[in-house]
Amino acid sequence: MLSVGSASGSSCMTVLLQVRDLTVTYRSRNRGTLTAVAGVSLDIHEATTLALIGESGSGKSSVARAICGLTMVESGAIKIDECDLPREIDPASAAGQHGIQIVFQDASSSLDPRWPIWKSVSEPRRARSRSSSAEHRRAAVSLLNRVGLPASFADRRPHQLSGGQRQRVTIARALAADPRIVILDEAVSALDVSVRNEILALLDELKRERRLTYLFISHDMGAVAQIAGDVAVLYLGKVVEAGRAETVIRHPLHPYTRALIAAVPSIHPERRRCATQAIGEPDDPANPPSGCRFHRRCPYVIDRCRSDEPARREYDFRDIACHRAEDIKKLTANA
Ligand code: ADP
Ligand code: MG
Repeated sequence: MLSVGSASGSSCMTVLLQVRDLTVTYRSRNRGTLTAVAGVSLDIHEATTLALIGESGSGKSSVARAICGLTMVESGAIKIDECDLPREIDPASAAGQHGIQIVFQDASSSLDPRWPIWKSVSEPRRARSRSSSAEHRRAAVSLLNRVGLPASFADRRPHQLSGGQRQRVTIARALAADPRIVILDEAVSALDVSVRNEILALLDELKRERRLTYLFISHDMGAVAQIAGDVAVLYLGKVVEAGRAETVIRHPLHPYTRALIAAVPSIHPERRRCATQAIGEPDDPANPPSGCRFHRRCPYVIDRCRSDEPARREYDFRDIACHRAEDIKKLTANA
């Protein structure tokens, strides 16, 4: 496997978060057994940002929840600094003890509506230290300032804030736990473009300042292109392409990645015309197709794709799981 996560420096950087062959399965009465994550491997190096991208239902949040101990791991391993994380569902605070914090899309549901903002921000700190209430408040105000909110926000309630301001509050709360890894699960997806860009700029500053490592989960290619050093593309619970962002986003090879990028005119206006479009709706993860999971939607499908599952392999400076990678490279070389 190509070492995804080395974008910002040398390949000898420390792997901080390692995910190996992660499988997450849900059992429900109406859909039966559903393998939402089917053998995902990722390496994230310290102080880098790995974006995990894919359509809704591809298993991104399941990867995030498994890393945080919020979802049971069926098989595989998750390591931080080479220490195994438990595979069982953990109490809510356990991920925090391992230096992991998660920020979700919907800030209003992750903040207690009855609490003043400072109390939400200081929650992880209060759980760890017995300082006085005044000291917790002071620390919370300082974090609010750091994320661009004035002290006067400390006593407001979540409903008095805009979506962007609430997301700043949840970022401040994540920082209060002094994390090493922050998982941003669609954290900017609900925001309009100018607010989104401000939050992305803030995340970038915080990352440099605190040597943070991000797992940036998004279906928004524009945001990914701005923030990520490395990219892994997920389709129906499998990584289909992974590598440095400039390789995968500027020169996508997997037909699914090509289709995702073609849908975002701002990234490559010139490429849009010739990019191949995926056909039809995503398949059902409860009933994935045989062979390559993408074959029913793939414009390059051949018989082999219907029967043989492509292995993830290194080709053309990236990892790719596609039987036709070499052909697609040739066919699209002059496009
Ligand atoms: P994404 O974040 O990429 O949209 P998810 O990880 O949320 O993907 O979901 C992957 C698949 O798992 C989807 O088909 C979803 O319906 C299913 N799923 C997610 N959570 C559960 C759950 N708690 N129980 C049953 N199925 C689930
Ligand atoms: Mg999700």
